[in-house]
Amino acid sequence: MNDVGMANILDGKATAAAVREDVAAGVATLRAAGHPAPGLCVVLVGGDPASQVYVRNKDRAATQAGFEVSTLRLDAETSQADLEAEIKRLNLDSSVHGILVQLPLPKGLDADSVLRGLDPAKDVDGLTATNVAALVTGSLGHVPCTPAGCIEILDRHGIALEGKRVTIVGRSMLVGKPLAQLALARNATVTVCHSRTADLAAECRRADILVAAVGVARLIKGDWIQPGATVLDVGINRGEDGKLVGDVDFAEAVSVAGAITPVPGGVGPMTIAMLLKNTLSAARVAAGV
Ligand code: NAD
Repeated sequence: MNDVGMANILDGKATAAAVREDVAAGVATLRAAGHPAPGLCVVLVGGDPASQVYVRNKDRAATQAGFEVSTLRLDAETSQADLEAEIKRLNLDSSVHGILVQLPLPKGLDADSVLRGLDPAKDVDGLTATNVAALVTGSLGHVPCTPAGCIEILDRHGIALEGKRVTIVGRSMLVGKPLAQLALARNATVTVCHSRTADLAAECRRADILVAAVGVARLIKGDWIQPGATVLDVGINRGEDGKLVGDVDFAEAVSVAGAITPVPGGVGPMTIAMLLKNTLSAARVAAGV
């Protein structure tokens, strides 16, 4: 906490930019050794407006980092068999090191079945069963980008997890569960809360590091936070005024927490940066580096 009793703001934009710079340097080293640039293919089925924005942002960040980026746009009526055939083709394409299937898929398409057909080495979102198992067993694999970004932002601010009480609100496969595994691997004492947790406020108050990944605007109040605790806000919600707000009541939390991520500009920008990091690592493995 700084002099005026306000939390340090963990700037995800700047931290993500630093990660992206490291990735760009890694790409340059790979290319200088005669290997191809990392290839990322984003598969976008249908025209969901939010997905279009995400895909555009991923495309821009990956291009800036020196990747070969392609977007495979398929219409919403694409059949399961055709989609899975495209994934098979990308699995075999040696210029593609990372395949990202933008979720959610349009109604009628089975995402689990698509993921089962994805080569785990190219699953840079870390969602295939093989990569989930690798995370739980502590072996090498791709880690989902948002929880990986949470750990990275802590690391880059010198906030250690070892021996800390880490409380995660939310148990999704995309954020809460993988983050619990990552925090355990760092020797934290982990509590995972969810919609049926009996006394959420009391659980949150015990946390040295509190992570909110719920999807409910300003659910976490200032007096749910232990003074001096670190707060990571993963939530992305629309406030009453249409602006983005997190799962934490930032105005209250900022005078209690020791450090906190804002929304926007906190965990959000880390996600794409970690996607690039995973894809670079896939390209390195493919190059035998
Ligand atoms: P999800 O809907 O899959 O899971 C939400 C979790 O919150 C569930 O486990 C549920 O049990 C729990 N929950 C719901 N209501 C609750 C309540 N009242 N009290 C306690 N727990 C409750 O969501 P998700 O995919 O994990 O995403 C969570 C939030 O993070 C969303 O706002 C999403 O937009 C955001 N998100 C951000 C990024 C990013 O890049 N920053 C990435 C993924 C998700």
